Parts: sequence; C-alpha cells; structure tokens
Amino acid sequence: MRIATWGFGAMGRGIAKNVIESKFMKLVGVIDKNPEFIGKDVGELLGLGNYGIRVRDSIDVIEETNPDLVVIATSSFVKDVLPQIEYAVKNHANVITIAEEMAFPFDSHPEESFYMDSLAKRYGVTILGTGVNPGFVLDTLIIALTGVCTRVDKIVAKRINDLSPFGKTVMETQGVGTTPQQFEEGLKKGTIVGHIGFPQSIAMIARALGWNITKIEEERKPIISNVYRETPVVKVEPGMVAGCNHSAKAYVGDKCVIELYHPQQIHPHLEGVETGDYIEIYGDININLSIKPEIPGGKATIAIATNMIPIVISAQPGLICMADLPVPRSILSFTR
Ligand code: NAD
Repeated sequence: MRIATWGFGAMGRGIAKNVIESKFMKLVGVIDKNPEFIGKDVGELLGLGNYGIRVRDSIDVIEETNPDLVVIATSSFVKDVLPQIEYAVKNHANVITIAEEMAFPFDSHPEESFYMDSLAKRYGVTILGTGVNPGFVLDTLIIALTGVCTRVDKIVAKRINDLSPFGKTVMETQGVGTTPQQFEEGLKKGTIVGHIGFPQSIAMIARALGWNITKIEEERKPIISNVYRETPVVKVEPGMVAGCNHSAKAYVGDKCVIELYHPQQIHPHLEGVETGDYIEIYGDININLSIKPEIPGGKATIAIATNMIPIVISAQPGLICMADLPVPRSILSFTR
C-alpha cells in the first residue's frame, strides 16, 4: 500500500514512522509547509537514517507519487481540510484525516459532507475521520459497548486527561496560561474553544442508536490552578488557568440522554487529579467501564490513524465514520 502524509507535525510524523516501519506499507510522499522540514529527508527527521523521500510544500506530491491513501493531519476543521481531501480524492486516493470535525461531519457540515461523499463515490475512494477523541474514546468505544445492551436509556462518559505533552496551539485553544478574565474573553471571542468534537461524537452515537437529538448544551469552565505548573510551552502561576473543563449534554425532547465530560489540564497530578477514561451506560443492563490512566492521546491517535489504513482502502466508496467500519484492531503488532 502506497501512503502519503499531508502534515508532518506531532501526529503526521508518528503516522509516517509507523508506515515506514510496517512491512506492508510504503511511505511515498510527505507534504508540510513548515520551513524547518521542507527539503529534509523524512527518515533523517524521524531519526531512522536516510529514507530517500524529502518533505515538500507542494500538493504535486500526490499526483506524482500516486498514493493509495493520504493521511491528512494538518488541522482540526472541515474548512481547512476540505480542499486537501478534495485534491487527494481527485487524484484517486483514499483519505484518513484526524481533523476533529471530520469524525462525524454529516450533521455539523451537511453541505460539505454531501459534496465529499459524492466526490468520493465518483472517484471510487473512501474518506474517514478518526483519532483518539473524537474518533474513539467518547464515541466508537461507547457505541461498541452498547452492542451488548438490548435497551440504552442514557450514556455518561468522561475523559480526564493531561494536556502537558501538547504544543502551543493546543494551550491557546484550551486557554492554558490565561487569567480567569482572559479565559472568559477568549471564550467570547472564540479564541478559546476547549475540546473540538463533542457535537461530532454525540451525532455519531445518536445515529448508531437511532436517537433524534433535539438539543445539545455545551459548557466550558476554567480549571484554576492552586499551584505553579509549567510545560516547555506555558507557565501557570497559582490563580491562573491550567485547563478547560468542557462538557456537553444532549437531549431527546426534555430528556438528557448523553452527558460527556472532558476536563483537560496540564499536570493534573500536581493537584491530585488522576487521568482516566470512564464510560457508564444505563439501560436493560448497566455497564461501567474504567480505563486508568487515560488512553494517551498522541500515541493513540497515531496508532488508530495507521491501523485504519487497510480497512479504509478496502471499504465501500464514500464519506464514512468509524461506526460504519469493522472493529478497529492493531494491524502493526503482527506485521513488524
Ligand atoms: P501540529 O501542529 O504538530 O502539526 C500540524 C502540521 O501540519 C504542521 O507541521 C504544519 O506545518 C502542517 N500544516 C498545516 N497546514 C498545512 C498545509 N496547508 N499544508 C501543509 N502542511 C500544513 O499538530 P498535530 O498535533 O500533528 O495535530 C494535527 C491536527 O490533528 C490538529 O488540528 C489536532 O487538533 C488534530 N488532532 C486530532 C486528534 C483526534 O483525536 N481526532 C488527535 C490529535 C490531533
């Protein structure tokens, strides 16, 4: 399988490394606009020695290398990745993207979704949005657990994670390092957004269960630190914001059927907070799943984006979501 990656940042780099190290895939091209990478050998940048492919800032890479699939890891938003997806599809390549809004764009971006679906079908390829979350913890995993329930009344899930490994962009969108006043202003201006993906995860669960969601309420609260916290990209004095406690509730009529909580902060352990992923399902049977500590976001996103490659290549053409595909599994463990 010939694979290209569009985006060679923290995620794209990991996916490229997985592809190079697997026995059945070949990395044929890498696109990134970062001047630090352009013109450099991909293998050298990954610490693997010369690989013979250089990072280029040109979409021509796709046409010239003719990949079976392009992994797009450049942005969170449909508006940014749509032209990239369009270009890949028009060059007959399947697409996996980790853009959060692409995990289930059908409800949030109906026109764009219709266009992408039609285009993919015309070119006979498949487009999938995935990632750790959205894409797995607060949607696909929940949906899989409902497979053993005859009736589901309510879902409550929480992902408590550590933001410390992430870069500047994530700190800014989560409001880490701001004062409480700056946090409120950022929310109003839209520069602080918290987690991207609640509407997508809720819509994916709702479609799987046949629920007609009538209202989604989201709440974003600052996590104010009582202690000094620091990462390579941000410093947080006591009294400042260490993260964003973002939650969403989805209703059918006046009945709340889904509650999702995603408090994200740097160094949660400094105030005794343990990370973890928790899913409770209430219905004819009650399920209570606890994963401690959290499934690590970066490594898991790199893994799932790679693991889905053969599944996407052999899937039906069109724009699809994780719930449309076979159960994800680690393909890399037996091919290395
Ligand atoms: P990053 O900032 O480290 O890397 C992004 C890379 O894309 C950069 O190297 C940048 O130069 C490149 N890029 C951006 N626009 C480009 C363009 N038009 N052409 C060429 N290169 C371009 O980010 P990351 O940590 O690798 O994450 C990538 C995206 O995936 C982010 O938006 C992030 O929020 C999202 N993400 C989603 C999940 C999920 O669970 N769904 C998980 C992790 C990351």
